[in-house]
Amino acid sequence: MNKGRKAWAIGALTVLAISAVVFTVDLGPRMEYVPEPAFVQAVDTIPDPPGAYGIPMSGFLIEQEHVRKGSTFGDLLSAHGIGYPVVDSLVRLAEGVFDVKRMQVGRPIAFVFTDDEAHELRYFVYEVDLVEHVVFSTQAPLGVRVGRREIDTQVAQVSVPVTGALYNDLDQAGADPMLSMLLAEIYAWTVDFYRIQKGDRFTLIFEEQRVDGQRYGRPKILAARYESGDAVRDAYFFEQDDQADYFDPEGNSLRKAFLQAPLKFSRISSGFSRRRFHPVQKRFKAHLGTDYAAPYGTPILAVGDGVVEKAGYTGGNGKYVKIRHNGTYSTQYLHMRKILVNQGQRVAQGDVIGEVGSTGLATGPHVCFRFWKNGSQVDHRREEFPSAEPVATAHRARFVREASRLMAELDEARHRADQRVVF
Ligand SMILES: [Zn+2]
Repeated sequence: MNKGRKAWAIGALTVLAISAVVFTVDLGPRMEYVPEPAFVQAVDTIPDPPGAYGIPMSGFLIEQEHVRKGSTFGDLLSAHGIGYPVVDSLVRLAEGVFDVKRMQVGRPIAFVFTDDEAHELRYFVYEVDLVEHVVFSTQAPLGVRVGRREIDTQVAQVSVPVTGALYNDLDQAGADPMLSMLLAEIYAWTVDFYRIQKGDRFTLIFEEQRVDGQRYGRPKILAARYESGDAVRDAYFFEQDDQADYFDPEGNSLRKAFLQAPLKFSRISSGFSRRRFHPVQKRFKAHLGTDYAAPYGTPILAVGDGVVEKAGYTGGNGKYVKIRHNGTYSTQYLHMRKILVNQGQRVAQGDVIGEVGSTGLATGPHVCFRFWKNGSQVDHRREEFPSAEPVATAHRARFVREASRLMAELDEARHRADQRVVF
């Protein structure tokens, strides 16, 4: 037995030992100690799943590798003594379950051998992702099956003072830094993320998934609290009629009806004006829109939910889209390089509807954004827009219950952060 194989034999034994205890030992709540004054604790824990892909491990050895560039399913198996007729049968058996040509470079694979003189390859395993793996039985009876590792969902809390970039503050507190992105989305209309100050604080109750201890997928924020000076802004996740949203304690949506601009990052190159000098037509003319300059190809976003009323071309507008949001408001986006929606299509706020271009009467790449209110064009930057829908009366009682529970959890997380002993 060579050194590498010995290591895997020990590995296999460890896996065996772990799988044996997983369902009998209560691992207790998972605690992570983090630097004061940040605080993270899992409040709900499900035991880790057993490893070894559900293959009984006694009498087997595992060799784990990664798919290398250029290696194919056939090569990998034939290099371990499996003949092409068997490879062929396995490929056919896998049809509809897994296409072996879809194996990706870098993904983990495992060879499972009998731990005896024969040292025969019994199973080949390909890990599609952290959760899913495909097991090929390489000896009679040949077979293919897809296995899934258990996803461990837990609710955790973190309370972190802002010291610099929120991303780093969360990371240092042991929480998923991805949460900073989610917070920016939740508070997009109520907190200016460029003005967050040192000493402000975020407290979160969030759900995250782990597979074998590794973070998996996107976390979900259940409740968030932003404190800045005396101002406290809570956000509670709530679902009504299959629609999920974040609401303040009064049940108002934190989302405004419209995005501030149709581009994520842009510069206003020309504002709304009843009279301005037109750069192409060389004469004074009203400019009933706001121009946002951005590079060619920048995604243009629908500023609100609605239906595409027009998606077409005119000499002046170039390629353009007009969205009808409700009985009162419509928005129009001009000079696109490419239109990515069709007339009659329903779009959601933030959906990409086209790409920045300079078609029609335009000197350079930009979006001319036009806001229509009751059929006439208005300066959207001077309008006061209503909030998105609040919690409906029918769901009010349930919201009050859930919000008060989440509020208590935020209070507790916040309180614990204060109570921690400073050494
Ligand atoms: Zn314009």
